[in-house]
Amino acid sequence: MERRTFLKLLGGTGLGAAVPSTAKAASGKEFTGYPDASGVLFDATKCIGCRKCEAACNVVNEMPEPERPFDDLKVLDERRRTDFSTYTVVNKYSPVSGRPPVFVKNQCNHCQEPACASACFVKAFTKTPTGAVIYNEKVCVGCRYCMIACPFSVPTYEYHSALNPRVRKCTMCHPRLLEGKLPGCVEACPKEALIFGKRSELIKIARRRIENEPGKYVDHIYGEHEMGGTNWLYLSGAPFEKIGLREDLGTTSAPEYTAGALAAVPVVVGLWPVLLTGVYVVSKRKDRVAREEREEAVREAVAKAEARAEQRVADELKKAETAHKRQLDAEIRKALEKAAQQEKQE
Ligand code: SF4
Ligand code: SF4
Repeated sequence: MERRTFLKLLGGTGLGAAVPSTAKAASGKEFTGYPDASGVLFDATKCIGCRKCEAACNVVNEMPEPERPFDDLKVLDERRRTDFSTYTVVNKYSPVSGRPPVFVKNQCNHCQEPACASACFVKAFTKTPTGAVIYNEKVCVGCRYCMIACPFSVPTYEYHSALNPRVRKCTMCHPRLLEGKLPGCVEACPKEALIFGKRSELIKIARRRIENEPGKYVDHIYGEHEMGGTNWLYLSGAPFEKIGLREDLGTTSAPEYTAGALAAVPVVVGLWPVLLTGVYVVSKRKDRVAREEREEAVREAVAKAEARAEQRVADELKKAETAHKRQLDAEIRKALEKAAQQEKQE
């Protein structure tokens, strides 16, 4: 469905009734990942911060020329994040003072059970059997729930595009994978800091590296279990939280985690027709108003509705997180009490 058609339907017929009406449907809990899927292992101990992966990504995805060239390594001194024209960035961290810096490449982690996909009620995101999470701009309605849902703050939006703004993120070079080619960044890396392969094999490789050089690596493969597991995996010599990777995410997959919170989405979406119908009626009365002005009015109404919807979802997510923590605490307390009782009895 085209974005305009969607907006028209919202205004005219109240599509709110047609979108999923349960938390389960909104959360897309059918995602289970693909056991034979591929992925990429990034070894931060090997990365030299040359930005060749960024340059390759730019070429492969036919992005605009960056403001500063890719051989300008001074940009590594700034903390950057991905944006609509940059699907991957390398950042520099200094986790231990007096020791060499650590470079970390960021992009979409291609979650096994992606939060972006579970938050998207028109199913614009797909977890493919290759392991890549891809996006279909043709069905996207621009609600940007995916951006709120992603625990790694990956999806970005073409705010500058007035007509058909899209969500943008790394696709693991999905079209190249289908042709049997490597992702552009993997192919370009001169230090083999990036390895492409079957996810299960990459985990074995990562484990072997940790076993063979325990002093070099933190004993953890980031992404093996985080948020239900990701197809992009990380090895590091420094604690992950010190190199920009969140360690507070837990192992629960996003659809499960956000199911309750996303129950709010259909309710919020249900309000859109009312708002948009209002705007439409006002516009109708003013026949003399130019078409551009009417579209602007609709855009403004949608923006306001979206802002409220985003706030509502953010609030609900926060509530769900607190409830989840409380439940965990209670379970731990119960287990401790039980253990203490057993000890007493013995
Ligand atoms: S990292 Fe974010 S954008 Fe990428 S698959 Fe996971 S939830 Fe989606
Ligand atoms: S190309 Fe390889 S070594 Fe260079 S910055 Fe990217 S991941 Fe690091």
